[in-house]
Amino acid sequence: MKNPSVPFVDLHAQYQTIKVEIDQAIADVIENSSFIRGAQVESFEKNFASRVGSPHCVSCANGTDALYIAMIGLKLKAGDEVIVPAMSWISTSETVTQAGGTPVFCDVDQDTYTIDPDCIKQKLTSRTVGIIPVHIYGQPADMASVMKLAEEHNLWVLEDCAQAHLATFNGRTVGTFGVAGSFSFYPGKNLGAMGDAGAVVTAHADLAHYMTMFARHGGVRKGDHQIEGINSRLDGLQAAILDVKLPHLDQWTKARQRVAGVYHEKLKGIPGLTLPMCAPEREHVFHLYVIRHQRRNELAQFLSEKGIQTVINYPVSLPFLPAYKRYGHQHADFPNAFALQETCLSLPIFPELTAEQQQYVVDSVVEFCAGTH
Ligand SMILES: *Cc1c(COP(=O)(O)O)cnc(C)c1O
Repeated sequence: MKNPSVPFVDLHAQYQTIKVEIDQAIADVIENSSFIRGAQVESFEKNFASRVGSPHCVSCANGTDALYIAMIGLKLKAGDEVIVPAMSWISTSETVTQAGGTPVFCDVDQDTYTIDPDCIKQKLTSRTVGIIPVHIYGQPADMASVMKLAEEHNLWVLEDCAQAHLATFNGRTVGTFGVAGSFSFYPGKNLGAMGDAGAVVTAHADLAHYMTMFARHGGVRKGDHQIEGINSRLDGLQAAILDVKLPHLDQWTKARQRVAGVYHEKLKGIPGLTLPMCAPEREHVFHLYVIRHQRRNELAQFLSEKGIQTVINYPVSLPFLPAYKRYGHQHADFPNAFALQETCLSLPIFPELTAEQQQYVVDSVVEFCAGTH
């Protein structure tokens, strides 16, 4: 029998399952020419806020803008320091700089890979104004500790939920702990548009209003510019697509968790292989299934030759990127993030991954590990 090839993600497979609904929603937007703002955007904002359990949702062009808009809303100013995890996508830190502040990197926990609260304590200075915990790979950060520290030191918390739609900590959905939560709907994210899209959720009406204005040239009504802003809009087509997909998200999340369960059951206990560790109070939504192996590059090559696509998320932690050379950080400053970048490998995980594909991935990883011991 021919081995199945396994892509890292298969967006077309998902489209096939909801094609009729998606095509109709797109046709409706075109029929009504509701390309910018309009009923679809209003509807998605309302439905997303309600599903996350936050009073306000401010949609915008992408998840990077969501972080930027939130920090503009929080009135970041020159000299302000914002603590961010060393392991994340660069949006988390670049937006701090763009909004006028200074990102201060903090190492991640060696088991959960989320920001390490003990390390946050060491990074606090009189200039610290906020913390951006990232619910990385789909696992919530330790929000109990992060919120406690924030309260003690009078800091805001902006949650980067780009990889963790509907993930929960002690039963509460991420994005509802901090003053705001930012989301990305990049196509490959757990809830993905067919282009760029993003949003910020918040319980604070005044912050929501300010962010709404800022994202729309500084005014909610045309011609009424209260402040200078930017153009960061969610367009009608993307909103319509997201609104079709949102009701499926719970079921897709469960499917991701089932795949993770299969990987866990069949790969646990293999010497040299580290599987994702999920802390008991946290519900992981498995945007990524990240394993670790000392011979990660060989494993990736081995899987690639078998037709299995993997990705390294991320090969260089933020402090070590050329973009942050100005800080002069050393590998020893962020030992956990550095160890992770050297050994991590993301296996294919998406709701439509077939049982046959899952088994093939498992068998191939087992085969590699057997051969290296
Ligand atoms: C994807 C992502 C973003 C940015 O989202 P875009 O929509 O691509 O701008 C921000 N933070 C994290 C952790 C992400 O994974």
